[in-house]
Amino acid sequence: MSRNVIITGAGKGIGKACVEHFLALGDTVIALDIDENSLASLDNPDGRLLTYVCDVSKGNQVQQSIEGAIDKVGEITVLVNNAGIQRYSTVTETSEEEWDLVMNVNLKSAFLCAKYTLPSMQKNGKGVVINVASAQALMSQARVAPYTTSKSAILGLTRSIAIDYAPHIRSVSVCPGTVDTPMLHDAIKDMENPEAVYQDCIDMHLSKRICPPEEVAALIGFLSSDKAGSITGQTYRVDGGLGVLIGGN
Ligand code: NAD
Repeated sequence: MSRNVIITGAGKGIGKACVEHFLALGDTVIALDIDENSLASLDNPDGRLLTYVCDVSKGNQVQQSIEGAIDKVGEITVLVNNAGIQRYSTVTETSEEEWDLVMNVNLKSAFLCAKYTLPSMQKNGKGVVINVASAQALMSQARVAPYTTSKSAILGLTRSIAIDYAPHIRSVSVCPGTVDTPMLHDAIKDMENPEAVYQDCIDMHLSKRICPPEEVAALIGFLSSDKAGSITGQTYRVDGGLGVLIGGN
């Protein structure tokens, strides 16, 4: 049966792959992104894609977009909280503004989107909230203090939603390793030797590859399905075995 699915950060990368995955399943997709151009570039087969230019860290914009979408298409079954930004800094290098920005885009947005979607899922009688965290929810690079903190907190939010809205609503976190998206390429493009950094990213995964965004979308698609009906409150890694091998000689 066709579902109504909200995806944040839907214009590029993992979000865009999720849009394509859910549209291919026959679902109606409500795509939220701050970037109007990337939303405009998404394919819209049979008019089953609704796009909303929305800064998901802002409560009024989230409320307007989600309530507007519900008015148009009806109750929501799946929410994919995917929007996120990466910044590189230690605690002492991070300004208060930068800390707030990363927390608001990566963490508060998931709270806000859940807050305005869960009542619709309750009316619907079922729903799934999938939060895209990161391998950095479980381990950390150097100089990612706000990012890794925001991603760890997403796991707590996932547990809370799973507990408070059971049994008809499930919540699951997904933790990707390095994924081939604009976020990765933007992060390395100004480094001294981007090709070497890209190769390092490949080498640090047991899978010796960088995950295509479609594989993250496929996991999210499965977790959203009734076949995953016994999965809730947990974290699923799609990280090519990152961190499994103990380093050193
Ligand atoms: P991306 O930068 O390629 O795409 C992110 C999308 O989010 C963009 O379309 C951007 O416009 C949108 N966005 C950013 N701020 C927004 C805001 N305030 N409101 C609405 N939309 C906003 O990123 P990606 O690599 O596809 O990452 C998606 C998610 O996966 C993020 O949460 C990221 O932290 C996580 N992740 C990515 C990787 C990776 O290696 N790429 C690894 C682990 C986790």
